[in-house]
Amino acid sequence: MRRVYLDNNATTPLLPEVFEAMRPYFFEKFGNPSSSHERGQQARIALEHAREEVAQLVGARPSEIVFTSGGTEGDNLAIFGVVASGDHIITSAIEHHAVLNACKRLETLGAQVTYLPVDSQGRVDPDNIRAALRPNTRLVSVMMANNETGVVQPVEEIGRIAAEADVWFHTDAVQAAGKIPVNVDRIGCDLLAISGHKLNAPQGTGALYVRAGTLLRAMFQGGPQERGRRAGTENLPGIVGLGTGAALAREWLALGKGEELGALRDRLERGIAQHVDMTLVNGKGAPRTPNTSNIVFECIAGGSLADALDLKGIAVSTGSACSSGSAHPPYVLLAMGLAPELAHASVRFSLGKQTTPDDITYVLECVPEVVAKLRAMSPLWKNGTRERLARTQA
Ligand code: PLP
Repeated sequence: MRRVYLDNNATTPLLPEVFEAMRPYFFEKFGNPSSSHERGQQARIALEHAREEVAQLVGARPSEIVFTSGGTEGDNLAIFGVVASGDHIITSAIEHHAVLNACKRLETLGAQVTYLPVDSQGRVDPDNIRAALRPNTRLVSVMMANNETGVVQPVEEIGRIAAEADVWFHTDAVQAAGKIPVNVDRIGCDLLAISGHKLNAPQGTGALYVRAGTLLRAMFQGGPQERGRRAGTENLPGIVGLGTGAALAREWLALGKGEELGALRDRLERGIAQHVDMTLVNGKGAPRTPNTSNIVFECIAGGSLADALDLKGIAVSTGSACSSGSAHPPYVLLAMGLAPELAHASVRFSLGKQTTPDDITYVLECVPEVVAKLRAMSPLWKNGTRERLARTQA
């Protein structure tokens, strides 16, 4: 059976070049970067080289990069690193749980949090940020690109507002880095988190950009690694993988591959719109990352469609990996004002560097057939909802 992986927002496959770059650091080059002997020094050189590659991917200085275990740690380090009891945070309702749950925890510790709404396209209105500012606002945390819809937030405008108000600005760029250009100066952020496994580097790797001069409290107590900002012996093979993944992602973007991937995604959306009626692309009117398409298939459960496609060898998702399988409709789509039954009926297709035109052709062969079968079994569809919805849309 043909297998097509369209769940790259959950995780991406490791590129062979990344694995080859990592391999020696498990074996002959296994040193601890803190050791003073030759093996340790070689490890240090590799670590610093990876730091340069990651810095270049986001337009930062190498000294501003802190290696982490992934996006979740980067977001937590950023948020807990600058906020204390009595402070106020402004964030959005559509952040990843890494940010939302960090904010919820801070609320129990005496911080105040404003969760801003988004519009029907999934965008935060920068004016709402300005209006939410308080004298004790310490941090604005708004993601660069959303994991469910790919919708890109107006981070540059938000960065200007935060700078004018003299408030730290953190952006979760986990779903943006490697897919669209990311530049910390253009964004004007003080803190920016990325994750290795979303850009074809290993799981359990990541980095937090910390602008020089940002007063960040470390989360772990331990050794002086990462200039005291993240204690613990570095994951050297993983970091080498992250650096290589970052370098390859930069090359990929420079070659215009992001646009090519966007064209493939658009072909998928056009094909579905042509061959399956009663569909809707969430966030279509907003700028989006080129790999993500979140589509409502009315009158069927997104989970049923994902399961049926899985039987055809096609991997898609109905929400973020951590919450798929839950009975709750994706909160991101609800926040965009989608009715719960439509949010339930949505599926996320997330393409990757390895996706081919033939993959999309195969998906376009399977989706109409699978949707027709599921709709034929759906009481909603049978009870004339199709006609009613068609009339509403006409
Ligand atoms: N932020 C966003 C937007 C994500 O999509 C994810 C993962 O899905 C994370 C943070 C968490 O990253 P990690 O899996 O590296 O901890």
